Amino acid sequence: MIKTCLASALCCLAAVANAHTFDDWNKPVDPFQIYGNSYYVGMAGLSSVLVTSPQGHILIDGGLPDSAPLIAAGIRKLGFRLRDVKLILSSHDHWDHAGGIAELQRLTGAAVVASPSTAAALKRGSMDEDDPQFEGNTPYPKVSKVRTVRDGEVVRLGPLAMTALYTPGHTAGGTSWTWRSCERGSCASIVFADSINPVASDGYKFNGHPLVQKQYEQSYAALEQVSCDIVVSGHPDFTGMWDKLKSGKPHPLLDGGEGCKAYVKQSRDKLNLRLAEEAGK
Ligand SMILES: [Zn+2]
Repeated sequence: MIKTCLASALCCLAAVANAHTFDDWNKPVDPFQIYGNSYYVGMAGLSSVLVTSPQGHILIDGGLPDSAPLIAAGIRKLGFRLRDVKLILSSHDHWDHAGGIAELQRLTGAAVVASPSTAAALKRGSMDEDDPQFEGNTPYPKVSKVRTVRDGEVVRLGPLAMTALYTPGHTAGGTSWTWRSCERGSCASIVFADSINPVASDGYKFNGHPLVQKQYEQSYAALEQVSCDIVVSGHPDFTGMWDKLKSGKPHPLLDGGEGCKAYVKQSRDKLNLRLAEEAGK
């Protein structure tokens, strides 16, 4: 029951979620190389990415509370040490992307980096009350040692340089992350695209929240303009990751920016449909 309530409150899918959905999202998958020093260490339905260097590694997102041991196992399976993970970057403060961060921080000793709004929620261990999906307190393990990051700020660790790209709307503090990874002299721009799905609790109307609509437009523009050879979205199926991986190409996730553009179009169409429905059209 609790899971069902949390699902309806927190899910990033427009479809009705239930406990079975969470089990599906948290299904273990083998970690794999995305490109160069970037690796997928997430689950079937919740992304987590590891970017590595000889001076330490950076992890993006922690999945559900139950995801932490799976992400840790994926990092180890790739041959990397948990204690070499020095930073954990957060996309947004919902339970299904931030719930595992506290445990991953405990396992690695890493500092966590997030936008100010997300950082406040992580320290609290709950989403913001102004969140479009807020339906009551839905706590998750609180995170300590959270550093804040500005829009466009570059977070560095040794040779790694991860740029924060604010993508609000789904949450006020939503942040995508972008960086470059290279292999054999060829480099690719990679985007960890935060959730931009326009979902909300019952009774919430986007028509009554012009600021949130503006935030979505800001996010659409940011993700359309950013250099994006490869996109990994918070829920990997939202950018067709598993289908792309079946293509058999040497670098199946390289798509020349089409993935980021399609991701924006998907959200924009949903938001426009929702606004039309709210207006009774
Ligand atoms: Zn979410």
